[in-house]
Amino acid sequence: MRDTWPLLEKIPFPAIRRGRLDTLQINVGYRCNQSCVHCHVGASPNRTEEMGGKVADTVLEFLERRRIATLDITGGAPELNPHFRRLVAAARDMGARVMDRCNLTILEVAGQKDLAPFLADQQVEIVASMPCYLEDNVDRQRGKGVFDSSIRGLKRLNALGYGRDGSGLVLNLVYNPQGPALPPPQEALEADYRRVLGEEHGIVFNRVFTMANMPIQRFGSMLISKGQFDAYLELLQGAHLPANLGGVMCRNHLSVDWRGFVYDCDFNQMLDLPLARAASERVHLSDLLDDDLEGNPVRVAGHCFGCTAGQGSSCGGALKEAAE
Ligand code: SF4
Ligand code: SF4
Repeated sequence: MRDTWPLLEKIPFPAIRRGRLDTLQINVGYRCNQSCVHCHVGASPNRTEEMGGKVADTVLEFLERRRIATLDITGGAPELNPHFRRLVAAARDMGARVMDRCNLTILEVAGQKDLAPFLADQQVEIVASMPCYLEDNVDRQRGKGVFDSSIRGLKRLNALGYGRDGSGLVLNLVYNPQGPALPPPQEALEADYRRVLGEEHGIVFNRVFTMANMPIQRFGSMLISKGQFDAYLELLQGAHLPANLGGVMCRNHLSVDWRGFVYDCDFNQMLDLPLARAASERVHLSDLLDDDLEGNPVRVAGHCFGCTAGQGSSCGGALKEAAE
């Protein structure tokens, strides 16, 4: 895989400082049952990195001590981590909102047949990857058969109440473009998803989040190989809107890797850009139990234009519409 960091670090980006922390996003490992082309984590079934029990304990201690409102669990396929359910149940017991970044196909993997009812019981908010409502596009990006399996997964979640009015079970879908282009307007795309998935498959959901592809990891490497890296960066830089700087997720998120080290966001984690803090080369979550990061400078570079281009991108979708 081609490393995009030597190219990204040369590109200046406006300075950002951290605000009040409200979300802990933990990456519990890079193992996944899929290996999608655009994956910014480089996840696959062959990856072995995985958060262990001791780090999971630190996560729970941090949540409780710092009274963090939201635990956002990602991977890989986070549900494959043996501590996933313990983390979910303990965080819910503390009253935290828990989000699971679910690829949908995991619901059909051997040993995960009881996953969907578990998530519903715990009232976990599901953020599901669904890069298109058309079979060909999804299978090209995520692998053959992924569309059908995702549709079965969505139907299963709907049957449990997910995405249905009044159930309290939130099901949001994530869209990202197929190639080096900006996502279309989130609201219009959401209307298309609702119409097609509703009419053709009887599926309901709460929101569609659009996210730009980040020029890092597998997607960034593919851009370099195809000679499209510079053009994509120019597209992102040309569409940069300063107003989006106020809503980028590094202001109120903290990203934790499988070893417990912290980063300003998941993308910085994938670039191995640790949180900048005093003289430490790397900061561990256990060092921050009594430390407030408000005002700390964020480590920014060229990839950050992926968050501020056009309508903007965050783990909650477009910034423009999210703010409205
Ligand atoms: S399902 Fe998600 S984590 Fe897994 S390979 Fe695809 S994009 Fe990466
Ligand atoms: S990639 Fe986005 S979230 Fe991460 S540091 Fe840059 S602006 Fe912040």
